[in-house]
Amino acid sequence: MSKGTPSFGKHNKVLHETCKRCGHHAYNMKQKVCVKCGYGKSKKILNLSWRWAKPTGKGNRKK
Ligand SMILES: [Zn+2]
Repeated sequence: MSKGTPSFGKHNKVLHETCKRCGHHAYNMKQKVCVKCGYGKSKKILNLSWRWAKPTGKGNRKK
């Protein structure tokens, strides 16, 4: 399978649906879990601020 445009023809599986809670297209139909807010997994909206937080401190530094 090639990596270029021809392979995109196989991208016809619908994995994610619009989430009822956060409205993002991130609700996984198979796992029944929203990867954006955690709908289906937790009652609270997931705190994902760490995902976009820039690394600070000593860890994750380039040498
Ligand atoms: Zn969601």
